[in-house]
Amino acid sequence: MSTTRAAAAGMPPPTVQELGKGFHAFVQLDGSWGLNNAGVFAGEEGVTLIDTAFTAYRGRALRDAVTALTDSPVRTLINTHHHGDHTYGNFLFPAATIIGHDRCREATIATGLETTKWFPGVDWGEIAISPPTVTFADSLNVYCDDVHAALRHLGPAHTTNDVIVWVRELALLFAGDLVFNGGTPFVVMGSVAGTIEALTELEGLGAQTVVPGHGAVCGPEVIGHQLDYLRFVQERAGEGFRAGLEPLELGRRTDLGAFRSWTDPERLVGNLHRAYSELRGEPRGTPLDFDRVVDDMIEFNGGRPLHCVA
Ligand SMILES: [Zn+2]
Repeated sequence: MSTTRAAAAGMPPPTVQELGKGFHAFVQLDGSWGLNNAGVFAGEEGVTLIDTAFTAYRGRALRDAVTALTDSPVRTLINTHHHGDHTYGNFLFPAATIIGHDRCREATIATGLETTKWFPGVDWGEIAISPPTVTFADSLNVYCDDVHAALRHLGPAHTTNDVIVWVRELALLFAGDLVFNGGTPFVVMGSVAGTIEALTELEGLGAQTVVPGHGAVCGPEVIGHQLDYLRFVQERAGEGFRAGLEPLELGRRTDLGAFRSWTDPERLVGNLHRAYSELRGEPRGTPLDFDRVVDDMIEFNGGRPLHCVA
């Protein structure tokens, strides 16, 4: 069972953290591969969810956490992007209107359960792909009872379809996977330069509380740490590209310094692949050979598969 696997790896059970005015974060530490966060607004008139979870088991744990907070139905579900850890649990909320970026719907359908092949050993349960049914291109207003939440597309950044949820009244930002607190950013499906621009915009919002896509709830300073990493990647990529090194070789020769302690450091190799794409002048978000990228990350880890205890 999934709990055993996570517990054996030293992971605590999910927790619910109150953020004010009915907003909560459903946090799954340590935030490594597949252990994502969700947002829950438990209102009088209904519940608004931000993202779900990777496996059927974890999705049900989220649903149980919502039920423990309120009897109100889940009316609205916002997906911050198409990745399975944020969308695979969508089907557990069949009465909700699912909102996402235009390309989130496309990518959720096109990707299907494909992602599962990269994470052997995970107990997925029965998952039915359930994509957004209301989509938008740039921005959308959502009301959580009478609290305004601004949905905004940024990027390509972490993916081509990232959406943030900004609750100005509480200076509360749901950043999706634009922010990994204590985790290595992963921009291979989006853009290094685009993520730097997106994070720079997030820094300007004036958020006091940030719910990252992965890792503990934090303050805005974490945005700056993620920027430091991505600028480092961009610089290293420039050197390696000019020296004619493949991303895997460059990754092996790179001293990550303080970033080494972040979870999933092998993402460096994926990020370098994306940086090289940009150095070749390809448009941001251009699809790359993700199977090769994953193979390279596994090589970087000495042949061990990606460490996912979801
Ligand atoms: Zn993601």
